[in-house]
Amino acid sequence: MIPHYDFLALTCRHEWLLEPFTYDLADGTRVQVWDTGVLCLEPPPERCGKKDIVLSCGVHGNETAPIEICNHLLTRLLSGELVARQRVLFLFGNPAAINLGVREVAENLNRLFSGAHSKGEGQCNRERTRAMALEQYVSRFFTDPARPRYHYDLHTAIRGSRYEKFAVYPFLHQRGHDQAQVQFLGACGVRTILLSNAPTTTFSYYSSHQHGAHAFTIELGQVRPFGENDMTRFVDISHTLQALITQDDILLAPWHADDFKLFAIDRVLHKKTSDFRFLFAQDADNFTEFPQGFLLAEDGELRYCVEKNHEAIVFPNANVAIGQRTLLLVTPTQLWR
Ligand SMILES: [Zn+2]
Repeated sequence: MIPHYDFLALTCRHEWLLEPFTYDLADGTRVQVWDTGVLCLEPPPERCGKKDIVLSCGVHGNETAPIEICNHLLTRLLSGELVARQRVLFLFGNPAAINLGVREVAENLNRLFSGAHSKGEGQCNRERTRAMALEQYVSRFFTDPARPRYHYDLHTAIRGSRYEKFAVYPFLHQRGHDQAQVQFLGACGVRTILLSNAPTTTFSYYSSHQHGAHAFTIELGQVRPFGENDMTRFVDISHTLQALITQDDILLAPWHADDFKLFAIDRVLHKKTSDFRFLFAQDADNFTEFPQGFLLAEDGELRYCVEKNHEAIVFPNANVAIGQRTLLLVTPTQLWR
């Protein structure tokens, strides 16, 4: 007998499942548990909508709110309180780190996709093994090219933000940005969007580039311990994800460009030496602007200043390995008027 009601107790707390297993819910949905924290739900054909949806959380193990959002949604689907109408793959990204209550065990999982797990040092660790496995599960899920693909990778940020919730839109190469997806993010309460300008090794870029999915990294606010999240701040995203999975289609508010703040990623700073340090306050919020010419960081002999009007900082983190990203600099942009 499977304790449907507490998925985290079922899988994440036990780090590795012995065997994958499959069972059917009373409503006909087929549940396949492929691995620890990896569950595929498939409605029966007569009820199955066109969409293939991946929802991931806990890629950073201490980012608890997204884990709670996904766990709540999944628990209600498994208990029969909600009925799935679309195929959906739930991924609890980094169970080892989730159990330890840490961001990562050995290295940043969200820098190990698109094959990065097998490059560089080549050491085998939890995150590298998991990144490779997660790629395989996404490939196994996205099998039918005729079905539209979606991947929302849910995170919380390390620091506060001038705009509490924001999404990173991966670099699309030749593809165009999708206005309906931006409207969808708006329905999730996410009205600030960063447009990437280059390939990365994040999970959302992997699904976007490798599988042609509409994919986003979604930042929902600041990290808090389990049980300390104010879940009322996540009502919009919880309802919208629920509607996405349980309805044939969702109704989106009409498009108003002014509802959204779009930023282009202008520059990416990487740490070159162990002397790297920022020259602004340690607790500066994401999207803080500094005046043109302001000295942002020193890295050995190198100096980084604000180059443009309204250039703002996002994701500053001096505590990364040499060679890794320490800061994004973004500027306001517009796509559609
Ligand atoms: Zn994260």
